[in-house]
Amino acid sequence: MTVRAGVVAVQGDVSEHAAAIRQAAEAHGETAEVVEIRHAGAVPECDVLLLPGGESTTISRLVHREGIAAEIQAHAEADKPILATCAGLILVSTDAHDDRVDTLDLLDVTVKRNAFGRQRDSFEAPLGVTGLDDPFPAVFIRAPVIDEIGEGVEVLASWDDDPVAVRQGSVIGLSFHPELTDDSRLHDLAFFESVLAEA
Ligand code: GLN
Repeated sequence: MTVRAGVVAVQGDVSEHAAAIRQAAEAHGETAEVVEIRHAGAVPECDVLLLPGGESTTISRLVHREGIAAEIQAHAEADKPILATCAGLILVSTDAHDDRVDTLDLLDVTVKRNAFGRQRDSFEAPLGVTGLDDPFPAVFIRAPVIDEIGEGVEVLASWDDDPVAVRQGSVIGLSFHPELTDDSRLHDLAFFESVLAEA
């Protein structure tokens, strides 16, 4: 099976995610065709979608301007998998307490941008994640904190009592950057396990 994976590529880190998606697919004996999304029209062709980290104000502005935002919402409504990391998590939330970010309301959480303290601006920590046998090496870079969480949202991992990995239906949101290590288990969990479960 070939899975067509769209990586929203208007801004932010794209190639590391593409590599992680391919690696996760390979681990399942599958193939991933990675498509970089910069304009409307490509999302409806994708089986799974990835919203990467970057600068959420910029990503928000561009996905709305390009008409990609509505297509991402339609993808989620069709229960197709989405993995949203860091700025991507901010974008799929219901509110980021920042007028410059027009959120997509796909995950019933609110977030605070850049909320980890300055000395912990960027750090790496081993994180226990529901669904993974061993801790995941999580890299946090000016990461958002989830400050409110709706009833239908499952917490997959927490750091210092704050949720940092959550799932609601087919959408997984992470405060950290799973693409910056060569561990692709979270791309696997978000995409291939659910895709295979439906197949
Ligand atoms: N600080 C960024 C923002 O608020 C997110 C950081 C990231 O994606 N690494 O948009």
